[in-house]
Amino acid sequence: MGEFELIRHYFAAAACAQAADGVVLGIGDDCALLEVPAGEQLAVSTDTLVAGVHFPVDAPGELLGQRALAVSVSDLAAMGATPLAFTLALTLPEVSPDWLADFTAGLESMARQCGVRLVGGDTTRGPLSLTLTVFGRVPAGQALTRAGARPGDLLCVGGNLGNGAGALPFVLGERAEQAQSTELLAHYWSPMPQLQLGKALRCLATAALDISDGLLADCGHIARASGVALFVEQQRLPLSAALLACMGDERARQLALGGGDDYVLAFTLPTEKLDALRAMGQPVTVIGRVEAGQGVHLLDADGRVIEPRYSGYQHFGSNRD
Ligand code: ADP
Ligand code: MG
Repeated sequence: MGEFELIRHYFAAAACAQAADGVVLGIGDDCALLEVPAGEQLAVSTDTLVAGVHFPVDAPGELLGQRALAVSVSDLAAMGATPLAFTLALTLPEVSPDWLADFTAGLESMARQCGVRLVGGDTTRGPLSLTLTVFGRVPAGQALTRAGARPGDLLCVGGNLGNGAGALPFVLGERAEQAQSTELLAHYWSPMPQLQLGKALRCLATAALDISDGLLADCGHIARASGVALFVEQQRLPLSAALLACMGDERARQLALGGGDDYVLAFTLPTEKLDALRAMGQPVTVIGRVEAGQGVHLLDADGRVIEPRYSGYQHFGSNRD
């Protein structure tokens, strides 16, 4: 199967590549044409996933398609943007019709759940890798950046932490699956972007991001960009029953603090906005606070600053950019 036939058969024909609002021209020309309503801005983000670095070489196509799009769209959620379109640059070692059918099925399913359209891409031969660029729209001036946190704000997250990193030994086949690992694996392969939460935060939060590299590392980005100190209270970290069952308390906490692949939003919120956010039915757990100063500091149950402990855990994606 040639390049053009492959593009036509698997990508141009996909349901997620058909006409939609905001997409003036999709796959098939030299460029796609997107339209952003007056008063809105285009939010753009690119992510590359390389086989053997960001996912196992033998990852099932369907799960990979789902996950690749989910982690990309998560960046739109973190900005409070509404997904519009995405492009897919795909490098394949060989043309395997079964793998391509599975991959596009996974992509389709996530595209449907996120309301995003495939509008173009590139197809080349080489070691398996995927580069997705996502486009979203956001009311002008309302995008959530990392740079607005203020002393006195609460530090919050939108869901359980550590599930993605907790899934890794099972993804890599280093540990035999057990009853509770199913939930962790589901989170790893299909981390649902928190689009509704991101949208709700637009008028409430002062800073936000999605946690991809671990809570403490990503909070460091907010602290730096905002010029503030963040204090994380260790006993307030939300941990799933599945993570606790598979990893035990101590390890679960380490993964929540340092493991990556959560794709849960972290954000800073003026105290008086907390009730409004909860009233909107959004998931929110307060895990700490913002103070004047710099850096990210971990507090124990008695409010004393402690050093985070990592026991040599090597993240599958630890050498990624
Ligand atoms: P060009 O040579 O002008 O860059 P290509 O021949 O690479 O165009 O691609 C032809 C059309 O197919 C373009 O519209 C491109 O965006 C689209 N396309 C190529 N690969 C993919 C892909 N993997 N997924 C979606 N669209 C693709
Ligand atoms: Mg061209």
